[in-house]
Amino acid sequence: MNLADYRRAARAWLIENASSDDHEAAQDDGVARAKQFMARLHDAGYSGITWPEQWGGQGLTQAEERAFAAEARDFTLPTYVFSIGLGMTGPTILDRGSDAQRARFLRPLLRGEEIWCQLFSEPGAGSDVASLQTRAVRDGARGEGWVVNGQKVWTSVAQHADWGLLLTRTDVDVPKHKGLTMFVVDMRHPGVTVRPLKDMTGRAHFNEIFFDDVPIPDEHRVGEVNDGWSVAVTTLLHERLSISAGVGMGGQKDNPASVEALRQAVDTTDPLVRDELVELHIRTRALALFNQRLAQETKAGIFPGARGSAAKLLLAELTLYQADLATRLTGPESVVGDHPLSHAISLAPAMALGGGTNEIMRNIIGDRVLNLPPEPRVDKTVPFKDLKVGTQG
Ligand SMILES: Cc1cc2nc3c(=O)[nH]c(=O)nc-3n(C[C@H](O)[C@H](O)[C@H](O)COP(=O)(O)OP(=O)(O)OC[C@H]3O[C@@H](n4cnc5c(N)ncnc54)[C@H](O)[C@@H]3O)c2cc1C
Repeated sequence: MNLADYRRAARAWLIENASSDDHEAAQDDGVARAKQFMARLHDAGYSGITWPEQWGGQGLTQAEERAFAAEARDFTLPTYVFSIGLGMTGPTILDRGSDAQRARFLRPLLRGEEIWCQLFSEPGAGSDVASLQTRAVRDGARGEGWVVNGQKVWTSVAQHADWGLLLTRTDVDVPKHKGLTMFVVDMRHPGVTVRPLKDMTGRAHFNEIFFDDVPIPDEHRVGEVNDGWSVAVTTLLHERLSISAGVGMGGQKDNPASVEALRQAVDTTDPLVRDELVELHIRTRALALFNQRLAQETKAGIFPGARGSAAKLLLAELTLYQADLATRLTGPESVVGDHPLSHAISLAPAMALGGGTNEIMRNIIGDRVLNLPPEPRVDKTVPFKDLKVGTQG
């Protein structure tokens, strides 16, 4: 099918199947409806458009993916609960998992049958995630597999998740980056406790998780023992690219802070207001083009590296600018109560934290793009058990 026909067919499918105002299911409520929608999306050939057919994808190109995304912008797709799986953990299994893991996990993810979360951050390990303390030890009783104990925090959509990509410490006698191992953990297993955390939007976007003697079979290890850091770097790269590209976030149709929505809500006869809207439009468009280029390069096998961090930083700055502009143009009442803008405005600061803070993104750009001297790191060569954070050693 040529691209124009593909695009026409995608639009017709969206008109038939995607409500343009399904805002409730687009957020983290309405999970059952969201799952039904994902199954229809996959059956129609629009989930995993560029993923290999062998693992449940469509085996198409970036051109089809972009064409579908362009049409989907006019709708609100209820795909939020799948955003971690589609944008971060799925691509990690695709890149670094075994064939058995790809065969087991990817198709159910793309059909929306299973929801995923990403378990990296801990109360004492966020920006410096390699200092995490959740331990996985060989299961002495059974003689095979692993047993996990510890705590994670800020885990998005974990209250709905079936599976989690879990970064653990497996060796305390080596420096902190060298003693980590990645696993897939069954979030429904006894010993996994998930507690939703309400944020300032009034919703629970993320959770704290406790692991008490949770067994994990060795087949669910992703990558080699003690090579978890390199797997985590793969996930973090996909995380930055997918956040900035809005993977799984549905269309912009219902974003009350978009240029289109603000144009309807404010006095556009004022030249200063028009000026600000043009500035927002330019920044939005420039980031979209930058993301498009990164996606094309990634598909062509060119590693975007620290430019993924630049995209994530630009999105965080754009989101904060957009929230600030929306507040200034619509007045203080927009940040309270049920005003359509209040959720978008109170969620905006989270973008400067989740997926790595703006300061960390700047450090990475300074280090790897601008070749500035790296931050002093005194703990990179010290065994984890000798560091102050390594109290469980
Ligand atoms: C909405 C949202 C969703 C999230 N979802 C997930 C998830 O699904 N899974 C997951 O594992 N985590 C998740 N996180 C956690 C997120 O990755 C961390 O919040 C983030 O990495 C920062 O860690 P921290 O909160 O521990 O802050 P800290 O690391 O304690 O940082 C505190 C402050 O110090 C600054 N800082 C720290 N180190 C440096 C440095 N070297 N140089 C300069 N400044 C520095 C930071 O920029 C920040 O301003 C989410 C967070 C948010 C807000």
